[in-house]
Amino acid sequence: MAGDFGTRFLPQMAITHYDGGWSKETMVPSDALTLHPGAHVLHYASTCFEGLKAFRQQDGGVAIFRMDKNIARFAQSSALLFLPEIDTEQTGRMITSSVALYRDEVPGQPASLYIRPTHIGTEAAIGKAAAPSLTASQYILLSPVGDYFEGGEASLRLLLDEEGVRCGPDHGMVKGGGNYASALKHIQRAAKDYNANQVLFCPGGDVQETGAANFILVDGDEIITKSLDESFLHGVTRESLLTLAREKGMNVQERELSVAELIERAAKPECEAGLSGTAAVLAAVGTLIHGGREYTVGTGKAGPRIRQMRDELNAIQWGQAEDRHGWLTRV
Ligand SMILES: *Cc1c(COP(=O)(O)O)cnc(C)c1O
Repeated sequence: MAGDFGTRFLPQMAITHYDGGWSKETMVPSDALTLHPGAHVLHYASTCFEGLKAFRQQDGGVAIFRMDKNIARFAQSSALLFLPEIDTEQTGRMITSSVALYRDEVPGQPASLYIRPTHIGTEAAIGKAAAPSLTASQYILLSPVGDYFEGGEASLRLLLDEEGVRCGPDHGMVKGGGNYASALKHIQRAAKDYNANQVLFCPGGDVQETGAANFILVDGDEIITKSLDESFLHGVTRESLLTLAREKGMNVQERELSVAELIERAAKPECEAGLSGTAAVLAAVGTLIHGGREYTVGTGKAGPRIRQMRDELNAIQWGQAEDRHGWLTRV
């Protein structure tokens, strides 16, 4: 990934504040937010976010990919963190109106506009370690991002970690700050000790996901990925890719995948693996590191199936293929 992903922000953001109800949304400078130093979020991590993208369409317009699904997940994360219930219609309005305001700033293919809705607990109450924040703010950051694969497509090195956990096992469905803080220790160690790009968390030998992306194994006609449970983040990209794969008649298996089965399948030359998420859609995995050994996945390079799956989803996002499922919101 380009190291500067998500470091450039458009000048204004939509914001709303909660104090018994949500205020009418306004536009404010995106580099200024007033918080009490005792704000709940700064001490007890009452924060969650979303990541979705707007794409410049073939016909010159702009469309947001799977906005409703991301807002539904935002509402779910907020509920699981006991943040105030969001008004999903208002959040949708904040997203579409701010993207519309910056329509001209949405870059063309292969770049896009990354959208980061954020929800934080703002109550100044450091005694509330075990109680929710009664006030909150919600804002929508906009960040133009370039081509994830700029400079060529390197396949990733993943450390399979059976001992470490990304987050509390019942907290995986929350797209919340605390989960990334707890995963960092494992990811940093994997980078230092194994030169790994990511950790694939496999608690007790069950292949789960990495710090910020879902894992998908593609073995010939078979696609294998963990079935949904509360231990991991239910990626919108994952679901979209599986939908397209099923339509093509591929054998999609949402089930438990063990480290042993993964390593066995990885040895086959036609085997491919990828990490799915909004930033890259699907990034190829070339090497698995486990028990002090390295295992090449298939040829070790980005394979044709991963690339095709990514191209097909990208084509819908950029309005080059028919949006059969109503995944795009035009703004
Ligand atoms: C955001 C995220 C994903 C990918 O979700 P998408 O909706 O596909 O972008 C996967 N895992 C984690 C932990 C994430 O935070």
